[in-house]
Amino acid sequence: MPEMPISGNDLARFSGPQTFMRLPEASLAEGLDVGFIGVPMDIGTSWRSGTRFGSKQLRQESAMIRPYNIQTGAAPFDALHCADLGDVPINTFSLSDTLHIIKKTFDAHLKHDFVPMTLGGDHSLTLPVLRAIAEKHGPVALVHVDAHADVNDEMFGERETHGTVFRRAYEDGLITADKVFQIGLRGTGYTADDFREAAGWGFQQWLALDLWHKSLTPLAANIRQQIGDQKTYITYDIDSLDPAFAPGTGTPEIGGLTTAQAMELIRGLRGLNIVGCDLVEVSPPYDPSGNTALTGANLMFEMLSILPGVPLR
Ligand code: MN
Ligand code: MN
Repeated sequence: MPEMPISGNDLARFSGPQTFMRLPEASLAEGLDVGFIGVPMDIGTSWRSGTRFGSKQLRQESAMIRPYNIQTGAAPFDALHCADLGDVPINTFSLSDTLHIIKKTFDAHLKHDFVPMTLGGDHSLTLPVLRAIAEKHGPVALVHVDAHADVNDEMFGERETHGTVFRRAYEDGLITADKVFQIGLRGTGYTADDFREAAGWGFQQWLALDLWHKSLTPLAANIRQQIGDQKTYITYDIDSLDPAFAPGTGTPEIGGLTTAQAMELIRGLRGLNIVGCDLVEVSPPYDPSGNTALTGANLMFEMLSILPGVPLR
């Protein structure tokens, strides 16, 4: 039987290891089914900074999460060996070097068969992670929940930033273009048709506007059916949520998804062959209540709860 997170009845929740859900630490992914990995960085951001503190704060807020998902019955720790693989040793003075280091670190971990669950960090980290994932698994289907499509060509002449990730992933063949699902898009554009080019590549996009006041369960079922059994990566930008729910982020946009919609969406994706997930763009300095990190940590747990092999009790 895999090891459980430390119980809040054995050791007070405000003490103990600073790992995700107070799981054991591991330096190697060998023998694991799931590894949580921090990528504490904000040098790929274009507006507010602060996501360098996100990984730590997600772990901090995760200390309150108990091992069983009462609403869905999911019992991830009854089946999966989970541990916290610590932080990627990024170079905070160089974005390009940092992206290299992330790729190398994930390459090393992915010599073993496990699902990496990444605690960001700004969204630029997803590009090197997808490079490592695609090298191991081939091109993946992508569920991308975000206020932004992140398909700019360049920002200040830079081709790899938090706003260019999915254009690069498309160009490099890391993702299957007609199995890319971008959910929650909104806000203002540099041009009137910022997102439309990506739709031409095959990306399927849902504006937040199209989802207001609706359950996301049918959308999740639609996505699940289209993806089938293809290997899938989920990238979850916390700014997909409305700033009322998740104010602590770098580029907030009004009129976003609700927390309940986020949970419906993730829960509805159960059954997919998920090979990796990330939760990015939590910026603690803009999160005075801690609610953004609390929500992010719980959405990580929801993603853990739908991984292949997790039983329902
Ligand atoms: Mn993003
Ligand atoms: Mn975003």
